[in-house]
Amino acid sequence: MTPRQSATELARQLREAGHVAYFAGGCVRDQFLGHEPKDFDIATSATPSEVLALFPKANEVGAHFGVIIVRHEGHHTEIATFRTDGSYKDGRRPEAVTFSTPEEDAQRRDFTINGLFQDPDTGEIIDHVGGLADLQAGVLRAIGDPVARFTEDSLRLLRAIRFATRFGFAIEPGTWQAIKDQAHLLARISPERIRDEFSRIITCPNRANGLDQLVDSGLIEQFMPEVLALIGCEQPPEWHPEGDVYVHTRIMLGMIGPDAPLELCLAVLLHDIAKPPTQTFDEEAGRIRFNGHDALGATMSEEILRRLKYPNHVIEEVAFMVSRHMQFMNVQQMRTAKVKRFMSAPTFPLELELHRVDCASSNGFTDNLEFLIERREEFAAEPLIPPPLITGGDLINEGLTPGPRFKVILEAAQTEQLEGRLIDREQALAWLKAQL
Ligand code: ATP
Ligand code: MG
Repeated sequence: MTPRQSATELARQLREAGHVAYFAGGCVRDQFLGHEPKDFDIATSATPSEVLALFPKANEVGAHFGVIIVRHEGHHTEIATFRTDGSYKDGRRPEAVTFSTPEEDAQRRDFTINGLFQDPDTGEIIDHVGGLADLQAGVLRAIGDPVARFTEDSLRLLRAIRFATRFGFAIEPGTWQAIKDQAHLLARISPERIRDEFSRIITCPNRANGLDQLVDSGLIEQFMPEVLALIGCEQPPEWHPEGDVYVHTRIMLGMIGPDAPLELCLAVLLHDIAKPPTQTFDEEAGRIRFNGHDALGATMSEEILRRLKYPNHVIEEVAFMVSRHMQFMNVQQMRTAKVKRFMSAPTFPLELELHRVDCASSNGFTDNLEFLIERREEFAAEPLIPPPLITGGDLINEGLTPGPRFKVILEAAQTEQLEGRLIDREQALAWLKAQL
């Protein structure tokens, strides 16, 4: 059973019990745009206790706000009573809700394209907010007075950019003006919720435009002001004919694939984040330099992502990728053991993509990329880092006492192995004796 079939079945049961039940919000919008929704929400005239009477095993944690979650055939469907949200005290959530009519329920929703209902049986769309016309025209518009709507729930500021980015919609001028005027209200929203919206924007295929909108609206200043310094940060034109660091970064964001994982999107966004603070003018060579921008960039990326409460593994991977992005320029000078170790990092496939777009967006060089792709094929038959030929036990057998020297010797043995000079254990033991 698909999510749609499951939700249709639940709606039918509500109707048979005498209640009104519609599909509501995102699922109606997505179907209209030709995307099969991943989950279906139902809006109904039944009160939470009436919903619970029909589905006694449902999850009632949201009943206070009028929402019951029903598990049916492996799918979770939210069944929400038509309601009006009471006043918002803190710009985050309503203090109380009142059960009401479909018209009023549509009015409490954020954007017209999210305010539609659909009759599950006939497919008829019920539009109290002008959402159909906006869907057709590709317009994102707040329902009601935009200033009031962003003031009562300031997360909507970011949701607006997210939906506009995801669907490639234009933000209606009054809504856009309100976002700009109210951008400072984002300060009331928790870093976790900002992070979740931001992640969804930066992983959209259309993420370069999303970033522009975050910049132009003033929203990014509220949570990642470091990005603003990229704008107008000049680079040597012979390496970067495309323009300043912001232009370079946004071109790269557009070049990575539509399904690029979050870690790659963040690494691309942040790879040159330390260019502004490291920029110097080398008088002798007559050119701009950014010495150490990779190492400082890793530190800054870590700070930024920690502030936004990203999980540790995301922070570590992104900082690691930023710290290594300049090493791609030297791969052809590395000896084999070093190349293998470099390529053995779990993030290497993402880093290769970062490097590809770093060049493709600027100087167009492909030699380091091609070199690494060839090495990858050449080394593909065996693990990059094979099991060691000798271990600490062998050193003890040779009469050595465990200590810092062990690591040095074992690493030297691994280097010989990676370089192909030691093939088996016998050779490795002979090499060890010769070393000692
Ligand atoms: P997605 O595909 O991202 O889930 P969605 O439109 O379903 O998009 P949800 O956050 O799941 O978004 O919310 C479901 C519906 O609830 C929205 O379509 C909208 O009608 C309403 N809604 C959600 N969040 C808000 C909000 N902050 N303010 C007003 N209405 C909201
Ligand atoms: Mg949803």
